[in-house]
Formats: sequence, C-alpha cells, structure tokens
Amino acid sequence: MEVVHISAECYPVAKAGGLGDVVGALPKYQNKAGITSKVVMPMYRTPFLYTSDWVVDYKAKAYMGGWEFEYTIIKEVNNKLGFDLYLVDIAGLLDRQKIYGYADDAERFTAFQIAVVHWMSHWNHRPTAVHCHDYHAGLIPFMMQHCYDYHHLRSVPTVLTIHNAQYQGWMPWAQSVLIPKWDLSKKGLLDWGNSINPLAAAIKCAYKITTVSPSYMQELMHHANGLETLIASEKNKCVGILNGIDHEVWNPATDTYLTAHFDVDTVTAGKQKNKEKICEQFGLDATKPLFVFIGRLVGEKAADVLPAALHTAVGAYGAYASYMILGSGDPAVEAGLTNLAYTNKNIKVSLGYNESLSHQLYAAADFLLMPSRVEPCGLNQLYAMRYGTVPMVRSTGGLQDTVVDMGDAGGYGIRFTHANETDIVHAVGRAIEVFENKTHLLWMRERMMQVNHSWEQTVQSYTNVYKSL
Ligand code: ADP
Repeated sequence: MEVVHISAECYPVAKAGGLGDVVGALPKYQNKAGITSKVVMPMYRTPFLYTSDWVVDYKAKAYMGGWEFEYTIIKEVNNKLGFDLYLVDIAGLLDRQKIYGYADDAERFTAFQIAVVHWMSHWNHRPTAVHCHDYHAGLIPFMMQHCYDYHHLRSVPTVLTIHNAQYQGWMPWAQSVLIPKWDLSKKGLLDWGNSINPLAAAIKCAYKITTVSPSYMQELMHHANGLETLIASEKNKCVGILNGIDHEVWNPATDTYLTAHFDVDTVTAGKQKNKEKICEQFGLDATKPLFVFIGRLVGEKAADVLPAALHTAVGAYGAYASYMILGSGDPAVEAGLTNLAYTNKNIKVSLGYNESLSHQLYAAADFLLMPSRVEPCGLNQLYAMRYGTVPMVRSTGGLQDTVVDMGDAGGYGIRFTHANETDIVHAVGRAIEVFENKTHLLWMRERMMQVNHSWEQTVQSYTNVYKSL
C-alpha cells in the first residue's frame, strides 16, 4: 500500500500548528506499520531545508493560467523523518520563509497543487491513495478527476482530512483560469456560495473524508463556517479519527528542550525543576501554581477572552497563582495581554512562535488552559497530559473526546462549558484547590501520563479508510 500525503505543513520542516504535527508523525507510524507513506509539501526557506541533504527527483514545466512555470521536486536522502519527504520548489511563489499570510497565497497553493498533480501524472505507477490535508491541497481531488491533462490519475482514490474547517481557501471565480483546463460541466464541484471553495471541492470530490476527532465530525454538521449542509449531505463518507501524538518527539524522559527529564515515577521533582527554570527566566514565583496558555491568539482559541479572564482571575486569586502566555495572532489580543502583563507581575507574555519554549512550558506548567470555542482535535492538551500538566478545557471537539473532568470517575482534567470569563475564573479556582491537595494532584498526573494517545493505535483507523476506498 502506497499513500501520498499532500500538505502545507509538516513538522519539523515547517509548522504553524497541529497540521504540521500530524503530517510529521502519521506517515512515520504508517511506515512502521508497513505502509509506504510519503509526504509532499512546498519548499519554503526554513532551517530544515538548509540542514538536510537533498537530491533533485524531478523537474518540469506546467501551466497556471497563461503562465508557464518551472517546478522542481527535491527528495530528502537520509530518511531523517522516517518517511520519504518531497519538497516542491516554484521560484517566486514558494521560495519564502513563512508558510502562510501572503497576498498571493491562492496562487502559491494553486501552483503547488498543479505541480504535485502534474508530477504524479508522470509516474509510471499509481499510488493506493492520495491523502490531502486541509484546503491547501483541496483542489487536488478535483484536478485529478476533472482536469484533462491528468486523466491518468482519474481512478486513484483520494482522502481529505479536515484539520480545520474554518479556513477554506475561497477564491473568486475570476481565478478559475488558474486551474488547468478542466471539464466545465463540473463547475458545481468547485463552487460554494458563488466562489471557488477548495475545501468544499475536496469534500465533494474526495472518496473519503476524515476529521481529526469524532466529536468534531458531529460538530461540523452544525458549525462548519458555512459548509455544514455540505458536510451533513456527505456524512456517509465521513469518519472522525482522533489524532495521536508522536511519543518520540513528545516524551518528557528524553525531550532535549527540557531542563530536567522526568517520567511518571519522577514527575513531581522533574516538573518542579523545569518550573524553577522557567520562573527564574521570566521572573515568576515557582512556589505558586503555574497556568499556561500556548497557541494562536485567535477567536477559535477564545484568546480574546483571556485578557479579561486573567484580569479577573488575578483579582480573585492574585497572590496564589502565576500565568504565562505563549502565542501570537490578533493584534488587539496581543496588546491586551501585553498591557495586562505590564500591570501585573504574576502574568508573563511571550509573543511569537517558539517551539523550544512551548516544550519547556508543557513540562513546567501545573495547568494548561484551553478555553477554545472550536477545537477540531487539539494537541496541546495531549502534550500537556504526557508532561503531567492538568488540562483545563472547554468541552468541545477533540477536547471533550480526550479530557475527563476530575469530578467524574477516573478524571484527570478540568472541563467547563463556556468560553467566557466566569467559567475560566471558576476553573482556575478549582485548579488552585487541586494544587493544594498534593496527593490528588500526583494521582491525576500519574493517571494522565499513562493515557495512551500514541499514533500506533490510530494508524489502523487510517488503514481501514484506505482499504475501504
Ligand atoms: P491548531 O493547529 O489549531 O493551532 P493544535 O492544538 O492542533 O492547534 O496544535 C497546536 C500546535 O502548535 C501544538 O504543537 C502547539 O504546541 C503548537 N503551538 C501553537 N502556538 C505556538 C507557539 N506560539 N509557539 C510554539 N508552538 C506553538
């Protein structure tokens, strides 16, 4: 069985969030399970590119609209990631440092997809499945089936995994000329709400759709940023498969970013050492419970609620806790949090993306706050649990599939219902009570560290999807 993953992100090559983590891990565990699983992604100019060895695998020319462009496919030669990794270079479009956020992202990702499909159409074998991730690869199932030049690929099954349905890649119809000559009678497959919607096109054209948790699958039929009726009508080809975590990368006993390593037997002392280091670095008191938030500062994560909620929490429990936020996003939220940190010595904010600090915070924190309004799976809470950090989550999507409230039998987390100040402050109060009860805290840590969220058990669910195609 040969599966080709197509994605905009893959850790450690380029990562902006959970998509990168999943595409960096799932193929590795699929290879371990005997599936030939490869990843194809854009060749951004990230450090990984310059610290790895590559060979040119293919070079050709393709058209996007009237523009003939040259693309090059390079392959990593040392199997560094545990799977075959291919990068697509297109001068002027993909040769940039950042993954997203450019005015010409529609052209960038369309050209990337054209190059991938063009390349695959020249293979002299057919893969078992082409597995597309999110909207950046969403035009691929349509192109494989309805672009005249790629008719060789028409019968190759495609799978779409929706990591986040908020982002759909909308393009005005004027940009339809970018897509290589296609069967105009299939216009309806590209269209949603009078624009080209790559995510909707993939939902319509892919043989199977997976989402990254079962609860998110259910939620999408009611809230999918405009696609709910489409998803509900395609529900027979949809399945929710909970993400795993890469235990080789996220292991407190070996994680090279940490100050002190620990496992379930040494969790109390190990976490305290990491906490002392972080508290010394940021000027916090290591005897107090440490609450952290790590993530994109956007509405989905309810980051807009954080300034007011932390302000109230500090008012209520000021002397008893410290808070640390790592993230970037909405400038208003960034400003609100920065102002709060100016006026309160128990709150620290680190704006930006910082992989090593994120690992250190999972290890150092006592509690991880995730008040998300939408959380397709959520990896932060899984990493937190692996590092003995109590997750405090709003009951939604993957958070509700993975965190059991400490009030329920065997529970090791804190759940709340609303992404608002009242619920967050109440959850902080519950957390402080647990922190005072060291026996209960230790029991929870030991329990959560032993929950198995490894990819090994998830890989089989994906294999079942491929077999069903
Ligand atoms: P999403 O993909 O919606 O952002 P997930 O919970 O699925 O959320 O995955 C988030 C991933 O991104 C985790 O690996 C988390 O540690 C990482 N991450 C998010 N923000 C930052 C940041 N500012 N610095 C470092 N890592 C971050």
